Amino acid sequence: MNTRHRWRTWSNAAECTPLQLTRPETEDGIAEAVARAAREDLVLRAAGTGHSFNALAATDDALVDLTRYRGVVAVDHDAPSVTVRAGTRLGELAAALHREGLALPNIGTLAEQTVAGAISTGNHGTGLAHPPLAAEVLAVRLVDAEGEVRQLTREDPELLACARVSLGALGVLSTITLRCVPAYNLRTVSGSEPLDAVLERFGQWAGSADHVTLSWQPWGDTAGTLACHRTTEPVTPGGDRRRYRTTAGELWAGALGLAGAGVPAAVPRLTGLFPGGDTGPYTGTGHRVHTFPQPVRFHALEHALPLERVPEALRALRPALRGRGIHSPYSVLVRVGAGDDAPLSPAYGGPTGYVNLTVPRSARYRVLLRTVEAVMREHGGRPHWGKAHTADAAVLAGRYPRWDDFQRVRAQLDPKGRFTSDYIRRVLGPVRAPAAVPEAAGEGVR
Ligand SMILES: Cc1cc2nc3c(=O)[nH]c(=O)nc-3n(C[C@H](O)[C@H](O)[C@H](O)COP(=O)(O)OP(=O)(O)OC[C@H]3O[C@@H](n4cnc5c(N)ncnc54)[C@H](O)[C@@H]3O)c2cc1C
Repeated sequence: MNTRHRWRTWSNAAECTPLQLTRPETEDGIAEAVARAAREDLVLRAAGTGHSFNALAATDDALVDLTRYRGVVAVDHDAPSVTVRAGTRLGELAAALHREGLALPNIGTLAEQTVAGAISTGNHGTGLAHPPLAAEVLAVRLVDAEGEVRQLTREDPELLACARVSLGALGVLSTITLRCVPAYNLRTVSGSEPLDAVLERFGQWAGSADHVTLSWQPWGDTAGTLACHRTTEPVTPGGDRRRYRTTAGELWAGALGLAGAGVPAAVPRLTGLFPGGDTGPYTGTGHRVHTFPQPVRFHALEHALPLERVPEALRALRPALRGRGIHSPYSVLVRVGAGDDAPLSPAYGGPTGYVNLTVPRSARYRVLLRTVEAVMREHGGRPHWGKAHTADAAVLAGRYPRWDDFQRVRAQLDPKGRFTSDYIRRVLGPVRAPAAVPEAAGEGVR
């Protein structure tokens, strides 16, 4: 008799009780789990560390948790590149590469997530020269719907491009080969200025450093700016510990989130009392500057927009959020990136701006997510696949010019919909024979 196990996401946004929960430690183990699901006609979903803010990875049928299939397989210093098992945490990979004098070209803020989870949802950091991590994928090994292992390389650009950002809907990624760069440090400078002044010269600001981040609390008119410049300067004493200030800020925001659920009007004033503010420029190791421990659990929503539309979107967001009178203690974050050509990449089509709203988990704050989503949609936003959103396939198809190309590959690799859970059906629609793929519906194409 099968015993059901409970699995839930980091934020508690989704949970499931899979009939089969496996934690393979080998590629053969992954293939066996998929073959068994095929024999028993179960839906199968791959899961990383469950850091997505939705039910992407969840299923009550067969869940393959990749977190024990981890570690570096090979480093190629000539390319340079690294081949890594799917369940390796990004932070673990970054540290291993650093020991080899290498680094990932760019990463986001979370070290705990898996490499496969990150690429599958189009995870990004910030920096106008840097596309999402998935764009750095040179090859993958994919366990298909029959449990067969396929090697996808740049020799077959169409298949690889689809597999790079695929939400686990084409199969289970086993190993991933990523482009690397020489290890680097970051000279980091924080500042603040009127939000409108940054928006006036947004394109220029976006390219003013290797990595830029804008943070803005909607009740105020001032924005915080963070600029990180790649450098060969040594790390400032204590520089690699500066990330813990950001963690302290998150703890503060978490506490205010609890207070703010009761007295939302107090949030702006209390946020200003945070004692751990900026203490001047410093230099740190690249991956330690990019990431920081995030112990407080929250909900988040993020949209990718054509870079040039970010200023108008933020200007529209200001009255919409202020009008609600409920304030999240977390800042709205704006990051930037280069485009990507994977059909389902939120950065498909060119330079991209990412607008993120984080809110405490209290139900009171959920209304803010809906408010932001409405504004972002109106300004051509594509929701981050791994974050909270209400879009369905009818809306999303109209946002992705190569939607049908992805659906064709999906029908080819998984004709029976083995990887199509209810949530996947919501966001991607059912698997259809290529001739039956409908015209893209919905809103304007980017
Ligand atoms: C605190 C926090 C900070 C974050 N910061 C950022 C950020 O800076 N930038 C950003 O872009 N995003 C960010 N995210 C979002 C995060 O990058 C994504 O949600 C990512 O998918 C999480 O990876 P995971 O390992 O938890 O994957 P999961 O959430 O477990 O899975 C995500 C998707 O990947 C698929 N998947 C996982 N493993 C495999 C596999 N082996 N083969 C095929 N499919 C697979 C799953 O089926 C699912 O569709 C953040 C999230 C949190 C909670």
